[in-house]
Amino acid sequence: MATTCLKNVLFNRRLTASSIKSSRPSYLLRPCPAAQTRWSSATTEPRQPDADGGTKGGPSTQRYIKYTSESYPGIKRDNKFGKLSKAHVKFFKDLLGAQSAVIDGVSQDATDDLEPFNSDWMRKYKGHTKLVVKPGSTDEVSKVLKYCNNNMLAVVPQGGNSGLVGGSVPVYDEIVINMSRMNSIRGFDEVSGTLVVDAGCILEIVDHFLAERNHIFPLDLGAKGSCHIGGNVATNAGGLRLLRYGSLHGNVLGIEAVLPDGTVMDDLSKLRKNNTGYDIKQLFIGGEGTIGIITGVSILCPQRSKAANVAFFGLESFDKVQEAFRAAKSQLSEILSAFELMDGQSQDLVHAVTAKKRPLEGQYPFYCLIETSGSNPDHDSEKLEKFLEHVMGEEIVSDGVLAQDETQIQSLWSWREGIPECLGHWGGVYKYDLSIPLPELYKLVEDTRERLTSVGLIGDDEKHPVVGVVGYGHMGDSNLHLNVATRRFDTEVEKKLEPFVYEWIAKRNGSISAEHGLGLAKKAFVGYSRSETMIRLMKQIKDLYDPVSRITPLLDCLMTNYTAERYHEPI
Ligand SMILES: Cc1cc2nc3c(=O)[nH]c(=O)nc-3n(C[C@H](O)[C@H](O)[C@H](O)COP(=O)(O)OP(=O)(O)OC[C@H]3O[C@@H](n4cnc5c(N)ncnc54)[C@H](O)[C@@H]3O)c2cc1C
Repeated sequence: MATTCLKNVLFNRRLTASSIKSSRPSYLLRPCPAAQTRWSSATTEPRQPDADGGTKGGPSTQRYIKYTSESYPGIKRDNKFGKLSKAHVKFFKDLLGAQSAVIDGVSQDATDDLEPFNSDWMRKYKGHTKLVVKPGSTDEVSKVLKYCNNNMLAVVPQGGNSGLVGGSVPVYDEIVINMSRMNSIRGFDEVSGTLVVDAGCILEIVDHFLAERNHIFPLDLGAKGSCHIGGNVATNAGGLRLLRYGSLHGNVLGIEAVLPDGTVMDDLSKLRKNNTGYDIKQLFIGGEGTIGIITGVSILCPQRSKAANVAFFGLESFDKVQEAFRAAKSQLSEILSAFELMDGQSQDLVHAVTAKKRPLEGQYPFYCLIETSGSNPDHDSEKLEKFLEHVMGEEIVSDGVLAQDETQIQSLWSWREGIPECLGHWGGVYKYDLSIPLPELYKLVEDTRERLTSVGLIGDDEKHPVVGVVGYGHMGDSNLHLNVATRRFDTEVEKKLEPFVYEWIAKRNGSISAEHGLGLAKKAFVGYSRSETMIRLMKQIKDLYDPVSRITPLLDCLMTNYTAERYHEPI
């Protein structure tokens, strides 16, 4: 009876504590196993560079993006760097050949074509580049960098331009080196699960390739339809599955990169074990392009799970969320693949933008999305049933639904993955991606909300810049996304948020950047998470690999792009 699969029936049936006390509750009916296919859909995103070097996506609701140089007048261009000339452009055109490999705004007006490469996903940062180059091979990347090095031309490496800290776009006239033309899958070994790809491959395309071979990319995130593997590695992206598969520091086996002077570093090892001296490639993972451009990656990919289940819960308090997480870890253990947190306000804003029917009938202060994936559907279902029985019976969760097929899995995930995009609906978002010890994880959202409310910045009309303060994130990794949705980017709001948020984090020994990196947004604040000694060691590494950029004595923080940051003073 209870083990019958009722496809499409259970999804909207609520899992309530009262139902468990009566007859056998509906949620204990065995869920239909669904393969891990959530990757098949990309989020819609504002206008971005696409795989062919063009643009894709709809326009953002933000009408006008201020130049970064206007928003942050303290950032100065360093005139030691050369200005682009027609002769420089000719070199790149001769080298890269194809017309689409060079977007030339030096010899002609190319403002519209350059726009998606000049501005970021959040519509917060905008540069003045007049040149985008798209090398098609490691050799071309090497020649481009060598030429720039010899001619003192500043550059910014760019992948899918989905970064959330302003690191992927220029500030002034740096050349954008966009990696979208390096998009070949170089090889895959089905026995070991080792994949070797060009850095410009799009995450979602790679994952489709792996799905056809019953494997999975060990990283997944909302920008999968745009972001590149090279960008993922350069940012050490965390994403939705870190809980299960671990960080890229463990999964990346080898890297091919080009150093600022054009030297090719071929460390594209496919070995799991290689203790022959320093593991230099680790510096490029999360290095945000500061010491070189990644051109190739080899990575270990796990077998794809045969069965996936997704449950979505409503909970009455953050204490209950923590209890649910503990129960999930102890009862679902090896099949738990994601535990995501969304607060009530984040879901209200998603609902306001999408007008979709909510997964649960009632509204709750907190929601959790739990995903399991494993190799044995019967075993997984048995574990999941016990877990659901426990959290409902003990009234840890107040209400819940269990997806019954792949469409429903995707639908439930959209309430989590849709948050970043929906929050941008009103104009802009101040985004903070933080690691915080779990017991205090949500307190920051409450404190920030209170702070902005007390000074009258939050409200329902145009007079108030702030629409709402929300918290969501990768609860399983103690990673909170504190987001402040605004009608416009506003210095008054920013002054109330910074350094308040960073000071709050420093007091709890958290991290001011859990997974997005430093970029332009956070580099001036790195001292809140790293000691002076650590910052000095980082600068030494930077100077070693990129001595030319050692010309910013003003900088008291880690630098980001190995050219753009040369212009920056701490904000
Ligand atoms: C909707 C949405 C959801 C997101 N969810 C997550 C999430 O869950 N977890 C997470 O960690 N991030 C997330 N992000 C942030 C972003 O997608 C990741 O940081 C991603 O890894 C960036 O990849 P990219 O190719 O777009 O890189 P870009 O944005 O183009 O660049 C990011 C940085 O890497 C450098 N870079 C890019 N390519 C290279 C290269 N080949 N060599 C050297 N340096 C390079 C750039 O200079 C820049 O500093 C999300 C973003 C969006 C828009």
